[in-house]
Amino acid sequence: MPSGHQPPKDPITLTIEEVHALATRCLMASGADAENARAVADTVTAAERDICASHGLFRIPGYCASLKSGKANGNARPMASQIAPSVVRVDGDGGFAPLAIEVGRAPLIEAARAQGVASLAINDIHHFAALWPETQALAEAGLVGFAFTAALPYVVSAGGRTPIFGTNPMSFAWPRPGKDPMVFDQASSTLARGDIQIARRDGHSVPLGTGVDTDGKDTTDPAAILDGGAQLPFGGYKGSAIAMMVELLTGALIGDKFSFEAQAVDNGDGGPPKGGEFMLAIDPARHGDAEGWAAHAELLFERMLQDEGVRLPADRRHANRKLTPTQGAQIPASLHETLAGLAEG
Ligand code: NDP
Repeated sequence: MPSGHQPPKDPITLTIEEVHALATRCLMASGADAENARAVADTVTAAERDICASHGLFRIPGYCASLKSGKANGNARPMASQIAPSVVRVDGDGGFAPLAIEVGRAPLIEAARAQGVASLAINDIHHFAALWPETQALAEAGLVGFAFTAALPYVVSAGGRTPIFGTNPMSFAWPRPGKDPMVFDQASSTLARGDIQIARRDGHSVPLGTGVDTDGKDTTDPAAILDGGAQLPFGGYKGSAIAMMVELLTGALIGDKFSFEAQAVDNGDGGPPKGGEFMLAIDPARHGDAEGWAAHAELLFERMLQDEGVRLPADRRHANRKLTPTQGAQIPASLHETLAGLAEG
């Protein structure tokens, strides 16, 4: 289990509404306007609601640092434009990703329904959230969704020693009419960086294969990986190829930054890097099996689940989502103290 899914050692319990209010207060006290703060708080709250600690309130100090340092525009007004019948572009205006994604969502869905397939290129944003909120929203609109974003160069290419790729997540969502969609969302590194940071904070080790130290040796020490070491792609050269694909889609294809280019302009404030996001939406009713695609997919899921021990990606999150409205979200007391200070301004 990734360390980010482990309960904190010294928890404070907040209701989901308190999570949203606290995130909003911190962001607004750091310079975000109400709309930008609300969009980021929505994403952070969704992560706490689904018990994805590494993309919940844990991220707020980074967002606030980027507002205070002037790296991110807390008053961004993202604008969508149609640059081809099936291609939507959003100029993110230097803000955080969540508001730009919201602005692009409706035109992307409309174009995918009209054309059968459509893409969304989001430029000039700062992204370090999970990707499942955006692909899940596409699946809830009845579309197959993909999303990709790069990061800063933390991960070596297979066989190399120099970090070049971001942790470069990709997410894929499949609509299941009448049910929660199937969604996977995974870094192309063995572990998301947020999970390694949480492991260092909480004194946990990380599994072998997560990264190497400054001498290029495999290590289970999160600090050795974060301080001068490097992360490894999952699955050796196969994960490395996916990380490279994400760089190409979110850099060269949409005219935005590779991870190493993002680093060249980053001010090191610990907040999200500058870059882009690429999304793809496909209408399953326009690809050859208009009547049967949903039932056919269920056949695969049923067969998979007949095997004891198998679960579908997102099932953990969807089960957690039913618990947190009553049991609340747990965050470490130290993080709560930091956030209380940020909310004071
Ligand atoms: P995990 O390894 O925790 O999970 C990856 C996926 O596998 C999830 O969809 C998860 O579903 C699924 N999964 C896990 N265990 C099983 C299982 N036993 N059977 C079936 N499915 C399973 O995620 P990562 O550590 O790779 O990434 C964490 C997050 O970090 C992602 O949300 C990613 O978007 C984000 N990230 C963001 C970056 C950015 O710069 N914006 C950079 C890198 C990562 P479930 O959720 O249900 O457990």
